[in-house]
Amino acid sequence: MKLSKGKNSSNQSPKETRFGEFGGRYVNEMLMPALLELEEAFEKYYPDPEFREEYENLLKDFGGRPTPLYHAKSFSEQVGCKVYLKREDLTYGGSHKLNNTLGQALLAKRMGKSRLITETAAGMHGVATAIAGDACELEVEVFMGVHDIERQPSNVDRMKLLGAKITPVDIGGGVLKDAVSDTLREWASCSGSTHYLMGSTVGPHPFPEIVASFQSVIGKEIRNQILEKEGHLPDAVVACGSGGSNALGAFRSFVEDEEVRLYFVEGGGEHLDADNSAAAFQLGSPGVIHGALMFTLQDESGQIKPSKTRSAGLNYPARGPELSYLYETGRMNACYAFDDDVFEAVKVMARSEGLIPALETAHAIAYMLDNKEEFDEDEVVVLNYSGRGDKDLETILRYFEDDDD
Ligand SMILES: *Cc1c(COP(=O)(O)O)cnc(C)c1O
Repeated sequence: MKLSKGKNSSNQSPKETRFGEFGGRYVNEMLMPALLELEEAFEKYYPDPEFREEYENLLKDFGGRPTPLYHAKSFSEQVGCKVYLKREDLTYGGSHKLNNTLGQALLAKRMGKSRLITETAAGMHGVATAIAGDACELEVEVFMGVHDIERQPSNVDRMKLLGAKITPVDIGGGVLKDAVSDTLREWASCSGSTHYLMGSTVGPHPFPEIVASFQSVIGKEIRNQILEKEGHLPDAVVACGSGGSNALGAFRSFVEDEEVRLYFVEGGGEHLDADNSAAAFQLGSPGVIHGALMFTLQDESGQIKPSKTRSAGLNYPARGPELSYLYETGRMNACYAFDDDVFEAVKVMARSEGLIPALETAHAIAYMLDNKEEFDEDEVVVLNYSGRGDKDLETILRYFEDDDD
């Protein structure tokens, strides 16, 4: 993509802006003041007891936290170990995304901003941002590729009902990666009044740290809940993802506990080849995209390759800096699931547990179903159930109709 490769100004404090070699701030000089202001504000407010209290109360009374940790008995039988589901589908909005948007909206308010901007592809992050903007009395403008607007009419309607302004982006392919570039450019010119609400653990520092911190509520809850239910830590935590926000949210509380295995499941798409997949750990390599060094799908000359999967929320070509680091150091297993197995996994979960998972979440489910030998009979596994599948119903039904022909 056309990224303005300004000087990497992270030289000043390389340890704090990176996870190993990953991350940094590969941005145009124009963006540096906004990033530094944000970094300073986050370091000031995130540990502040008053800020924390307001955030935690919002998560609880508005967002519905803590979410339950559910022992899924029939699914456990099918997989052959004891599986608990961390029910992020019960967070208001239907996924983990609100943990991050509420946190950043509150932060923006503390910083004296009046407006949030963001970009969205499938529309889910846009909706979560519109909700958080309303909850914190901030204006919201969402940049969206023209093709994505056509493909996601119901989320566009939701955002409009919530009062957000939708700005179509029609440069390049008219899809998400162009919207990210546009939003970063827009932010450079209006950061005095406006916060860019990054949707996942990606982008220039401090975004990956901010998003992971707000999502870490997931893992903190899991830790307390599993200790209460089982009296010991889980043997493994399994999560799906692309940028990595729900996975890191679940993993962060366990990274230091080497005996807890971490499985990250990305979108395998149709086949494991670079034209039909979103598996950036399997098929990609470190490169600079959207202001940070991360594992990304790219060709030999370093051009970012588009990702491909039926699951819109996993359709991003890169893996965030912290996730890239956990993978490269061997702390985390990088796995994938193919589209066909993902749709089957939706059916298995629906029929065994009465739960319809998001297609993203179904990647983690499919991985467990297809790799039972990874998990012993006496093991306790937590699957981060990142979201519900209502938004994917049409795609799911169409898949099984086509399958019947
Ligand atoms: C957006 C989304 C994801 C992927 O985003 P991450 O930042 O990688 O977590 C996963 N699951 C659901 C339900 C989502 O909505």
